[in-house]
Amino acid sequence: MTIDFTLTPQQRELQLSARDFAGKALADVGKTIRHLPTAEERFLATRPAYEDVVAQGWLRKVIPAPAGGEGNGMVDLALIAEEFYAVDANVSLTLFASLLGLLPVLNAGSPDQVQQTLRPFLSGTGAPLAAFCHSEPGGIANFDEPVPAEGTRTTAVLDGDQWVINGAKQWISSATGWDSTGADILTVVCRTDPNPQTRAAADHSLSVLLVPTPDHGFVSDENFETMGHRGHLTPRFHFENVRVPRENVLGEVGGGKALVEASFAGTAALVGIFGVGLMRSAFDFTLAFAKRERRAGRVPIIEHQAVGYALADAKIAIETARYLSWKACNALDHELPSALELAVQAKIYGSETAVKVITDLMRVVGIDSYNHNLPLAGLLQDAIVLPLFDGGNMGVRRRQLHSLLASPDYDSLDTVTT
Ligand SMILES: Cc1cc2nc3c(=O)[nH]c(=O)nc-3n(C[C@H](O)[C@H](O)[C@H](O)COP(=O)(O)OP(=O)(O)OC[C@H]3O[C@@H](n4cnc5c(N)ncnc54)[C@H](O)[C@@H]3O)c2cc1C
Repeated sequence: MTIDFTLTPQQRELQLSARDFAGKALADVGKTIRHLPTAEERFLATRPAYEDVVAQGWLRKVIPAPAGGEGNGMVDLALIAEEFYAVDANVSLTLFASLLGLLPVLNAGSPDQVQQTLRPFLSGTGAPLAAFCHSEPGGIANFDEPVPAEGTRTTAVLDGDQWVINGAKQWISSATGWDSTGADILTVVCRTDPNPQTRAAADHSLSVLLVPTPDHGFVSDENFETMGHRGHLTPRFHFENVRVPRENVLGEVGGGKALVEASFAGTAALVGIFGVGLMRSAFDFTLAFAKRERRAGRVPIIEHQAVGYALADAKIAIETARYLSWKACNALDHELPSALELAVQAKIYGSETAVKVITDLMRVVGIDSYNHNLPLAGLLQDAIVLPLFDGGNMGVRRRQLHSLLASPDYDSLDTVTT
């Protein structure tokens, strides 16, 4: 048994080069977007940094090696995610959301689909974007609920050799692309029952379609003004008779539910790490502040026991969130029975801990933390979404844990022994 969490020399090198790159290329993103008035302007202003991410090979590094990239599994992704998120959440999320957009292709695409779709993402040039189009206006937590629930509402109907897609999506990272005409690749969760009115069970009625930037019928409706991740784009848009060839279904027709679930297992562990990156950044700032600042008193505030204890508690929380996420990533890499449970635990724990720890650190810094001149307010704004997105902790993630616990086969010791 190895439980020392020692990184391999290659992983250590990856971690250090990610840290070095993020420190140079992402450090000014926050400043660049801060005073830009619209979501679209802020997103566009992040493009040079995203191009740098692509040019320096980081998009290739997150794409798995079997598909032509250099990605070596979830633990490596976690190392990159922590270093990037510790510096800037905006471009980091754009990068990882593109990976999410590609996951249905990577998980279920034919060799031809993988090769053709991945080509621009592996080229190391430009600013290619992929978007996983799942969430819809009116909610998506119950996307797989049977009648009389609505479940997923976007439809794709066969017309000859083409699927015709209609319906609205929202909150889809980068989906409208850099020019509002659509990302380079959209992977779209649709209802593909032959007769959508009957709404068959989600196990048979949902599919994921591969949609390259549509020529027409992709309508951008609104770019959301968000509390955090202010330079990351989450639009609402709709499909009006968008057509793709029949063979653009990923995997089996009707196999979409499993693809959605597979995509969101890996992302759960990474969201835990996003929280670690944000907390780490808040902690490093606060520790330096506490060692430096006397706040008109006689001693640096770290010498007050309350401050020291608060910092100690924050550090414990960061370590535990990191190791739980690493363990989940390792379990995913090795397809262990405990992988889903650990990944969802990492998502819930890492996300909620990040919100709590950053708030606690703001109390250590005091009133000045409320000013955007210091980083903590922005970090809290970025952290607040972690429990809400990637499947909200209430409507999706705790339900996943609940259903695992309720299963007759559940063995609580799986997470200990594997
Ligand atoms: C920055 C950002 C990026 C995003 N990127 C993407 C993306 O790339 N692709 C994508 O598809 N989506 C994306 N989203 C959307 C987001 O991930 C999901 O829509 C969201 O996680 C689902 O929200 P929800 O769980 O609150 O569901 P909702 O359906 O909105 O449910 C709302 C609330 O209702 C309650 N609820 C509903 N059903 C139940 C139930 N059965 N049991 C208990 N409680 C219930 C819960 O309290 C839940 O929080 C993004 C969002 C943000 C903010």
